[in-house]
Amino acid sequence: MESALTARDRVGVQDFVLLENYNSEATFIENLRRRFKENLIYTYIGSVLVSVNPYKELEIYSKQQMERYRGVSFYEISPHIYAISDNTYRAMRTERRDQCILISGESGAGKTEASKKILLYYAVTCPTSDHMMTLGDRLLQSNPVLEAFGNAKTLRNDNSSRFGKYMDIQFDFKGATIGGHILNYLLEKSRVVHQNHGERNFHIFYQLLDGGDDDLLTTLNLERNPHSYSYLVKGSCPRVSSISDKNSWKAVKKALDVIGFTEDEVQKLLNIIGSILHLGNTLFGEGEEGETYITTETQLSNALLGVDGSALKEALTHKKLTAKGEEMISPLNFEQAVSARDALAKAVYGCSSVFITDVYFMYIGGNLYFEQFCINYCNEKLQQLFIELTLRSEQEEYETEGIAWETVQYFDNKIICDLIEEKHKGIISILDEECLRPGETCDVSFLEKLEDTVGGHPHFITHKLANGKTRRIMSREEFRLLHYAGEVNYNVNGFLDKNNDLLNRNLKEVMCQSENQILSHCFRREEVIDQKRPGMAASQFKNSLMKLMEILMSKEPSYVRCIKPNDAKQPGRFDEVLVRHQVKYLGLMENLRVRRAGFAYRRRFEAFLQRYKPLCPDTWPNWNGKLADGVSALVNHLGYKAEEYKLGRSKIFIRFPKTLFTTEDALEA
Ligand code: ATP
Ligand code: MG
Repeated sequence: MESALTARDRVGVQDFVLLENYNSEATFIENLRRRFKENLIYTYIGSVLVSVNPYKELEIYSKQQMERYRGVSFYEISPHIYAISDNTYRAMRTERRDQCILISGESGAGKTEASKKILLYYAVTCPTSDHMMTLGDRLLQSNPVLEAFGNAKTLRNDNSSRFGKYMDIQFDFKGATIGGHILNYLLEKSRVVHQNHGERNFHIFYQLLDGGDDDLLTTLNLERNPHSYSYLVKGSCPRVSSISDKNSWKAVKKALDVIGFTEDEVQKLLNIIGSILHLGNTLFGEGEEGETYITTETQLSNALLGVDGSALKEALTHKKLTAKGEEMISPLNFEQAVSARDALAKAVYGCSSVFITDVYFMYIGGNLYFEQFCINYCNEKLQQLFIELTLRSEQEEYETEGIAWETVQYFDNKIICDLIEEKHKGIISILDEECLRPGETCDVSFLEKLEDTVGGHPHFITHKLANGKTRRIMSREEFRLLHYAGEVNYNVNGFLDKNNDLLNRNLKEVMCQSENQILSHCFRREEVIDQKRPGMAASQFKNSLMKLMEILMSKEPSYVRCIKPNDAKQPGRFDEVLVRHQVKYLGLMENLRVRRAGFAYRRRFEAFLQRYKPLCPDTWPNWNGKLADGVSALVNHLGYKAEEYKLGRSKIFIRFPKTLFTTEDALEA
């Protein structure tokens, strides 16, 4: 039989806190690599689960596996997403505290798959109330619809989620699921009108064209060929070999039915999807005086949008202004008309996606733009929360166990969060001001304003050097932020527009009149929200992030950190450079340091005694006294030195992995 030590050499340690050299990134990555080669894709850092995408189906998600993890303590069994799911569920029931599981990682790292595994676990193992299928079940079954409207093929992932998702499940006192909701934030609406090379629009468009039956397409006046629609071919790849749009369509239809949409509602939803395709084919011409007119037929989109044709035509080419209390109509130029059309398409798509999450679950949230900046800001906030909560839970455990707290050095990224979000002085405030300032503002004037206001900040850099010279390597349209995870350059082009991406009033008024209730509701609601909070896109994002942080702060968090092993989406390949980068920006080393600051390992007295009692004549075969005394007798017999361990109220804390390994090896001998 293989000894524990050699097995450790081959498959690595199942918890990073057991690495002797816990400050070494190389050791960390080597441990990940070894395990990955053995198909052991899960590893802990204490209670954090690190997962590496295997890019192949593993036989580890069966019902039998679920049974193995049910009710079993975390450390007693190999790391698994089911262990996190089960622990979270039990913690909720026994401690009566709300739990949350935060899943992070870059595109293609396996976040969506992880969340599905968690839902599957709850769907299968949680008790059902008599009258309904479990909520986990329902969330799972509605998933094809959520993915059709929210996911798209990108260069990095053929099924990339283009929105952040917050889902919650509520349980009753017996532990049965009773309700829940989904909160969507950051839907990448710009994808509706534009895609980068090699990428696609949201799946739903292609599914409809490929899978919809002839009658349906006739009703919507659509052709099957995606090449007929300009919004579908911006990235020049309407077909993807790994995706069957036809089959997905069937799944979507079925899911719409399971969720409980009526035929009429489905028709309205699809009308919206069709109308967007027709809108995209609406073209403009320029008259001699610079006025704009529509050169293509518009009846098709009008009919599907359920609005009056001439009013929409007018609204696409003119804007309404109020000056000194008087309403004025002024014509749009060519570019403005094109952006008005695109803005309408995006807004209308936004409505349909709100609608599908709305039906079953309460929806809160806004839609966001200039995606990368927002995404990185979001990551920055999540990191802040992560550090804060990890430290908090460590501190709490030391307190309950009556062990003195030892201070931990770590990088606090509050300084970067402030740079972005601080009132009046932060980047978002400056952006808003620049959008609202009357007169000639543009992306470059925004950049200048940034330089004036935050130019001296240690995490902010532009081409201007402090001595008045120019930094050659940066363009004049960029600023650079030193995020905790690394440096990112942001080109300011489009920042103002995207922040301002509100529909002009003219178009809004037309849409409020739509006969399609999905649209009229949605536009009216936006109107109401706008009056209460005339926030620009970035501020709305900031607010919904704040709300999310508040929700998360009130819960007991568990973490799943997903890592993508290679860019080729292939099994068996472990690209060290790529992995190192992710280990860095997920803050895993930082996390390990916090976790290892005091003690590498901790275990409840009973569990410790149970496992090691054969090693000491006093405790074997049974210890009948107080647990703490038994553990004392055991470690004295094993020769633990005072600096190697501490006894808390219910747990033993072991400082170095070596101590534990020696004990383990004694057991094997
Ligand atoms: P994005 O941020 O783009 O939405 P993501 O982190 O949600 O990315 P997923 O869509 O979950 O990434 O994963 C990408 C692909 O990787 C999946 O379609 C699947 O093929 C594969 N994959 C991920 N996790 C697993 C797993 N545990 N087992 C098998 N395959 C997986
Ligand atoms: Mg995803």
